[in-house]
Amino acid sequence: MEKVAALQAFHPDIEKMPRERLRALQLTKLQSLLQHILGRNRFYTKKLKDAGVFPTKLRSLEDLSRFPFTQKTELVQAQEEDPPFGTNATYPASEYTRVHQTSGTTGSPLRVLDTQQSWDWWGSCWRHVYHGAGVTAADRIFLPFSFGPFIGFWAAAEGARQIGAMMIPGGGWDSLQRLRMMRDLEATVVCCTPTYALRLAEVAREEKFDLHSLRVHTLIHAGEPGANIAETKAKIEATWGAKCFDHAGASEVGAHSFECELQPGGIHVNESEFIAEVIDPRAGRKVSAGEVGELVITNLGRPGYPVIRYRTGDLVRVHSSPCSCGRTFVFLQGGLLGRIDDMVTIRGVNVYPTAIENVIRKFSAVSEFQVLVTLRNEMQHLEIQIEVHGDNAERVRTELEKTLYHALSLRTTVTLTEPGTLPHYELKARHFRRLDKTRTDKAG
Ligand SMILES: [Zn+2]
Repeated sequence: MEKVAALQAFHPDIEKMPRERLRALQLTKLQSLLQHILGRNRFYTKKLKDAGVFPTKLRSLEDLSRFPFTQKTELVQAQEEDPPFGTNATYPASEYTRVHQTSGTTGSPLRVLDTQQSWDWWGSCWRHVYHGAGVTAADRIFLPFSFGPFIGFWAAAEGARQIGAMMIPGGGWDSLQRLRMMRDLEATVVCCTPTYALRLAEVAREEKFDLHSLRVHTLIHAGEPGANIAETKAKIEATWGAKCFDHAGASEVGAHSFECELQPGGIHVNESEFIAEVIDPRAGRKVSAGEVGELVITNLGRPGYPVIRYRTGDLVRVHSSPCSCGRTFVFLQGGLLGRIDDMVTIRGVNVYPTAIENVIRKFSAVSEFQVLVTLRNEMQHLEIQIEVHGDNAERVRTELEKTLYHALSLRTTVTLTEPGTLPHYELKARHFRRLDKTRTDKAG
């Protein structure tokens, strides 16, 4: 394992490595990972044997396309076969030092394990996130989270430790107490979901707490797409008077993508630690640059809990030209565009939840919203329920309907609801609800 571990140290130059060398590095890491896990990891030993693929057959990265995909349902099943941790474990349980659990928004919660080595690796992936956002040892990073099984903030804390920044724990408190702590301890960076950043801003407004009195210059967001939805990002940046950066990761995979200092409207995949592929979710074939597809990830530095060709369920679009920051890492335009399950196709038009949110956020009078996918005359239809504060609710409603039509080339129905009737989100927003389930082909 020393060989894999030796290749893990964070170095900013790696982000600008010529692509040929980068791909050679990925291949070396992948070969080494496969040799290490086969025979030790029951899940992948069986899976790859059943598929008739062997690490010795992997001579180039192109050969990876012969390896089978890994679905989340398989990992959940592997867990049920040998509870509580399952068969995707390369070492005995005593070798692991961390256990986390997915939020389980789609199906059963999945437990993931990390050894001390792979936890160091998580932290080094977070160094890329902090480096892209310009966060350094001089910063004070506020983490508004409690002692739960959700991995994201734990990894942010480990990354903070590795860069030598001061980490301020803000768990177990209410939003106003957290704002006061940020002010008193002069926090400069906050890591949270976009929904929670907006919630904190709302609390500040209600409590007459001046957000601009804080020293926060940077917010780092993950958990949902907001930080790359232009209007949501603009709203967060304006209310906080700070720059907001996007980051994407998943418990099963690692902290795989980050936004760079130029903020060109998307995220880079950390290709020194992950191999990214973008596929047509139905056919399983690779899509061309510029086309929307499902992000498939192989992690290279987590031998204790590897995932090979893992279907993330996230829709992305690879930008065809490189980013002017100089990084050679692939660039996903618009970040994560949404979950495959949330995409709807209406009269041939593909609609992503992020596109709808981007339009709605232009209307500052809309305080809360929910998108319902319904059936109307056997066709999918979008109904958008909104809560509006202030007067002129009816005018906001008709304007929004019109703007959505122009932006999406699609007729939607916008309806007004009484204030306080729509779900109110603290951590992650779930704005999209499907009432047409029986009619929908399950992607993948
Ligand atoms: Zn860049």
